[in-house]
Amino acid sequence: MRHSRLDHRFVEHLPDDLDPGVLYISVAFGTASHSCCCGCGEEVVTPITPTDWRLTYDGETISLNPSVGNWSLACRSHYVIKAGRVIEAGPWSDEQIARERSRDQAAKARHYGNAVTKDHTAVALPPAPSPSVPSNNGLFDRIRDWFSVFGKERKP
Ligand SMILES: [Zn+2]
Repeated sequence: MRHSRLDHRFVEHLPDDLDPGVLYISVAFGTASHSCCCGCGEEVVTPITPTDWRLTYDGETISLNPSVGNWSLACRSHYVIKAGRVIEAGPWSDEQIARERSRDQAAKARHYGNAVTKDHTAVALPPAPSPSVPSNNGLFDRIRDWFSVFGKERKP
């Protein structure tokens, strides 16, 4: 691991040229990027979303959760960014990569799938109940109540 520490830089737009050893954070666009800490120079983008990474800023240093697994890069580096430090987390096995891919897809489907359903509630509505049964009961109750009130008023 060439870089054992990451400084952070809050920016409006993520720059095209990334200084190695710097984590660039755009709060406006909800994303962060850095030059791969192994030193290969590849750009690593870590979106800050409910299903991707969570960013913790303690006022001095940055942490990213979960770990950064660059299994799509040639280097396949894997590390944790914790309090500005880069902690090597060991290489990914093919099995781990497959599991992480499906976890990521499932989390996104859960999160964004629900949002889509909310926008299309009409489609998700259950079939309307048979109209005759409940309304007849309601009418019957109202008639019965009306007669009982009528009866009480008549009693004295
Ligand atoms: Zn790398």
